[in-house]
Amino acid sequence: MAWIFQRRVDMDDLTDDLRIRIHYKLESGQLPYDSPTKVSGRPATGETCAACDSAIGEGLVMECLVGAGGRTAWVRFHVLCFELWNDERRQPHKQTA
Ligand SMILES: [Zn+2]
Repeated sequence: MAWIFQRRVDMDDLTDDLRIRIHYKLESGQLPYDSPTKVSGRPATGETCAACDSAIGEGLVMECLVGAGGRTAWVRFHVLCFELWNDERRQPHKQTA
């Protein structure tokens, strides 16, 4: 039975690693805090995920249009990374006064 719990812990560790990475990228400006103005999903064809820098080889790629005015850009994520990014960018972050 123990391996079931072990497996669960491993999954949590993986998600935590990703979350920390996304958090760091948000703080360093490599990922936007802005809400996407447009989100769409489509089958992946090997795009690079903006959050984890891995190729999105299978499943869905989430495409988000972020920014405003002349500075809009498409950002692409794994579905899981997209969810974590959404979650992390909504957390209150430190304001440097
Ligand atoms: Zn990813």
